[in-house]
Amino acid sequence: MNVIKLRAYAKINLGLDVVGKREDGYHEVRMIMQTINLYDQISMKKISDSGIYLKTNLHYLPVNEKNLVYRAAKLLKDEFNIKHGVDIKLDKRIPVAAGMAGGSSDAAAALVGMNKLFNLGLSKKELMERGVKLGADVPYCILRGTALSEGIGEILTPLAPAPECYVLIAKPGINVSTKFVYGNLNITEIKEHPDIDGMIDNISNGDLYGLTNKLGNVLETVTIKEHPVIDTIKQEMIKYGALGSIMSGSGPTVFGLFDNKKKAQEAFYHMKGLDIAKQVHLTDFFNQKRG
Ligand code: ATP
Repeated sequence: MNVIKLRAYAKINLGLDVVGKREDGYHEVRMIMQTINLYDQISMKKISDSGIYLKTNLHYLPVNEKNLVYRAAKLLKDEFNIKHGVDIKLDKRIPVAAGMAGGSSDAAAALVGMNKLFNLGLSKKELMERGVKLGADVPYCILRGTALSEGIGEILTPLAPAPECYVLIAKPGINVSTKFVYGNLNITEIKEHPDIDGMIDNISNGDLYGLTNKLGNVLETVTIKEHPVIDTIKQEMIKYGALGSIMSGSGPTVFGLFDNKKKAQEAFYHMKGLDIAKQVHLTDFFNQKRG
């Protein structure tokens, strides 16, 4: 095999709680992760030259060591002393710096791609062990589906596939730094923690309404204080029939969950018409277990 095409899926957090801060400064989290059917496309080609060459459709993204795809390819190339090089094309659709793990998912796909392209024989678990060196969310992006994420994000427990629904994504035209959000979070001031255990019960019982009643993200307070437009988008989603709506990750992307296709489509067109939401997508959950 000389060429491989891969999809790197985005995630949303149905629940995001911060439960502590470690001495090294990292925050300990409890998150319900969900892969959605919105993806970047990556094609990787084995070449005789020994370099790693990356091209992307977004001119402002780095194409060197600063890009997680490049770093993922280099990590395995160095470890396995691979002589051949690789030509990589990255077609991005996942909003960048959005709280949707776009870069982490690209890195996960690049690890999977290198493993196949060069017949490295690494298991999923072994790829996940390498992935954590690139970022705390990378192992989850290799696992995919519905999962509980703990520790700094690297301790993963797969859950039953979350109940099916429509997912409306809206990203306002602002950029949010994950570092800034965690840096400005005061754990002792968190008033309401999402009921992560209750959400896990709802997921295993297939109870969409129980789940959407409990959506919660403790990072919202920090990001919304800085960018109130996030709250406006949440309110618009609810007004247009979302069962629940919260910010994903450190933001600024907001998602809303719908049980009705027509309502979700109406909300999609409404959101597209508002100039506060710059990138809008209507999609659903991706669950490989469901097939
Ligand atoms: P997370 O949800 O994990 O916090 P995010 O959605 O907030 O991720 P990304 O889109 O992954 O953020 O990227 C954040 C920064 O990382 C960007 O500003 C970009 O310069 C850099 N970056 C490196 N590699 C990539 C990549 N493959 N795709 C997108 N951004 C990348």
